Amino acid sequence: MKQNLFVYNTLTRTKEEFKPLNAPHVGMYVCGPTVYSDAHLGNCRTYISFDLIFRYLTLLGYKVRYVRNITDAGHLEGDADEGEDKISKKAKLSQLEPMEIVQKYTVGFRDVMKILNTLPPSIEPTATGHIIEQIEMVKEILAKGLAYEVNGSVYFDVEKYNQAQDYGILNGRHLEDLLTNTRTLGGQDEKRGKLDFALWIKAKPEHLMQWPSQWGMGFPGWHLECSAMSSKYLGHQFDIHGGGIDLMPTHHTNEIAQNVASCGKNPATYWMHTNMLTVNGTKMSKSLGNSFLPDELFTGNNSILNKPYSPMTVRFFMLQTHYRSTLDFSNDAMEASEKGFRRLMNAYELLDGLKASADTDVDVSAVQTRCYEAMNDDFNSPVLIAELFELSRVVNSVHDGKMQIDATNLELLKQTMHTFIEDVLGLKDEKAANDELPKVMEFIINLRSEAKTNKDYATSDKIRIGLQDIGFQLKDSKEGTTWNKV
Ligand code: AMP
Ligand code: ZN
Repeated sequence: MKQNLFVYNTLTRTKEEFKPLNAPHVGMYVCGPTVYSDAHLGNCRTYISFDLIFRYLTLLGYKVRYVRNITDAGHLEGDADEGEDKISKKAKLSQLEPMEIVQKYTVGFRDVMKILNTLPPSIEPTATGHIIEQIEMVKEILAKGLAYEVNGSVYFDVEKYNQAQDYGILNGRHLEDLLTNTRTLGGQDEKRGKLDFALWIKAKPEHLMQWPSQWGMGFPGWHLECSAMSSKYLGHQFDIHGGGIDLMPTHHTNEIAQNVASCGKNPATYWMHTNMLTVNGTKMSKSLGNSFLPDELFTGNNSILNKPYSPMTVRFFMLQTHYRSTLDFSNDAMEASEKGFRRLMNAYELLDGLKASADTDVDVSAVQTRCYEAMNDDFNSPVLIAELFELSRVVNSVHDGKMQIDATNLELLKQTMHTFIEDVLGLKDEKAANDELPKVMEFIINLRSEAKTNKDYATSDKIRIGLQDIGFQLKDSKEGTTWNKV
């Protein structure tokens, strides 16, 4: 924590020194996925970016409580209270329970996050698990006179709120400007003002997920869950609130309004936004039909792709661009990342075999300082990666006998590469893992053969079924047993 970290704050539109409210504790809330479909590669970019932030803050010694919610109710198709609830709609189309949809895509999301080596958040609360807290917040806002009820729905009164507060504070825009540039939106006949948004929505009888409230059967508006859950787990004021930049103008603007209206405080000191993953310059989005899934990338199973790419290549590709810049997806860019990642990992593998000399041609501490400086400058991962390539050149030169390194510098080299490659960037050597797998499988298959020879069929079946459960299929033939990943 000796480092001075600077972060870009969307709220003030400047880079500021990071000073947590209750250091060493840091509260970080990131808007999570709406679990009505698989997370696409764009969503993954946002969560990889916050994973980098989580990892670096942890490295600096902060004790981070990272809360990332699961949106399982209330997110309508349109940004402004129009259309159907995304999860209910999917449930109807698939003839499944909404909670089956939620379960399926939550599990899928966690699997993908794990494959991409993102660390799990400290708390992963769901909207449906916090209906009471959301109803309480609606009551508080109503009690402050900043919301009104119409026919079983409750709306936030933006213009009234703006009399004493600054509704457009996050994107630095005046209310008049926002009012002029807003089209007429859903539920308008019930709303008093163009910018008003729903806190609680009256449910039609056929709506699948609805809860009783003092305003009748209904469900919470999407923005409300994050206000209610962030204050429940991180308090009325915490350090970082994040999400993709597309959430800034509406979702996060409304979240701030709800929190300020209910308890008088902007919930977060630092609002941080990741920029979009684009395809041919257009935001990757499910609704635009230009999205694809991480799994399609890992298998190469998409016509847009020339070949498959490994999870760590995908992660490296994302981290080679600063989180606040847009990142355009292309086969060329992926191929370049694949080469870069291999170059870095090849050097990393050589590290353990390097021998120290009495003399040194290199001062690793200067590069180590620059690695920290890069990350202290608003988590500048591309500059960090450039420094790591500098260290890779040192590794290769020492390995080839073109350069000497003494024991102190060699130790620092190992420590710096390990810390920044594995702990901060979250990259791991896939080759090593893949090389070891056949040996492990051979060992397990031999154990099973022994069990069979001893007529211990219970154990041999247990091994076969256990492997199948984790995705490995065994095939017995006269020649022996083979395995494949299913
Ligand atoms: P959603 O499930 O649509 O609510 O999105 C989950 C998260 O992914 C949000 O933080 C979005 O801002 C983010 N997101 C959506 N599309 C993209 C994209 N193309 N690039 C980066 N982040 C995105
Ligand atoms: Zn949110």
